[in-house]
Amino acid sequence: MPGTLYICATPIGNLKDVTLRTLEVLKQVDWVVAEDTRHTEKLLRHYGIQAKFGPSLYEGVERERVPVIVSALKAGKDVALVSDAGTPLISDPGYPLVRACVEEGIPVVPVPGPTAFVAALIASGLPADSFVFLGALPRRKGAKKEILEDLVGETRTAVMYESPHRLEQTLDLMAELYPERPLVLARELTKVHEEFIRGVVREVREEVRRRGGVKGEVVLVLGGEGGVPRLPDPGLVLDLYRVLIRRGRRPQEAVREMARLLGVPKGKLQMLIRQEGMHGELPEDAG
Ligand code: SAM
Repeated sequence: MPGTLYICATPIGNLKDVTLRTLEVLKQVDWVVAEDTRHTEKLLRHYGIQAKFGPSLYEGVERERVPVIVSALKAGKDVALVSDAGTPLISDPGYPLVRACVEEGIPVVPVPGPTAFVAALIASGLPADSFVFLGALPRRKGAKKEILEDLVGETRTAVMYESPHRLEQTLDLMAELYPERPLVLARELTKVHEEFIRGVVREVREEVRRRGGVKGEVVLVLGGEGGVPRLPDPGLVLDLYRVLIRRGRRPQEAVREMARLLGVPKGKLQMLIRQEGMHGELPEDAG
């Protein structure tokens, strides 16, 4: 009977984000295959786990090490794959190992947990119902530009990893292509200096420039083309609503007219009107 490959997510900063199941698996397996054992040891030490490490798996050694790990699995060893932070295979090593296991009929079990792109996306305030994940942007400017150009006309939210050293170059390229699209720069997620810089691309670029760059780890979340209407000032929405009602429009007519004038979906306007103290003046079925 072959062993099982467990793919375990580990924290992206805050050590408390590890799951109970991940800790249990790390304790029980015959081998922990880490990207860098020094990194994983910190987590294991924190939780008092004495694990047995197998061969490390990092960029450049996957070809030679995957067959060794697969042989161990075939011989019945259970193996937990972890990377330095977050979920293995997500801009991290592991794909050739999983592929080989699937081909050999070795059971592959995900043990899910943190990953930076999901953390950034869910707190971005940009649509998360449909999105594209681009992984880490290429280092070379030409290759990066091509990828960013492909996002012209993309209506879904796009999430990408970028190094703080190349961030300003990336923001310059984005500002040339789509200066008015919403952008959220999520920095140091789950750590002490966690921060979200929000605005349109042009504004985020200016803010990063003003600070002379930013430090730490960064995820960029770019709003889709025409996908995220910026909500107008709530005061303006309410004033306009009152004027239209005073002029004899029924609530649903007023909302419909405002949606056309402001280019904002009716549902969003209804929500704003209710939230901003006109509750009761807008029937539930308005619009
Ligand atoms: N496997 C990881 C995951 O599941 O997110 C990604 C590893 S990739 C080598 C490293 C990149 O992930 C960083 O350059 C950064 O873009 C992003 N990242 C990782 N941790 C982060 C954090 N705490 N805050 C913001 N971005 C982070």
